[in-house]
Amino acid sequence: MISIVCDVCKKAVPNAMPGRNFIYVTDKAICKSCEAELEEKTRAALTKDPQYSLAGFQSHYLGILRKMCG
Ligand SMILES: [Zn+2]
Repeated sequence: MISIVCDVCKKAVPNAMPGRNFIYVTDKAICKSCEAELEEKTRAALTKDPQYSLAGFQSHYLGILRKMCG
């Protein structure tokens, strides 16, 4: 069993299984509840961004992730 600590909330993920109860984004491991929060914040940021695009989604997503990990 692998021990994973979420890089956002710094909590250990019990019975960590990639794609199931946590995901990797670049070099960060984030739990499902933080992933949901991250997606929500990304969507909120995109509604204010008139230049919506996939690249825009990714740059917002990663920027917000970096802030949440801070
Ligand atoms: Zn978390």
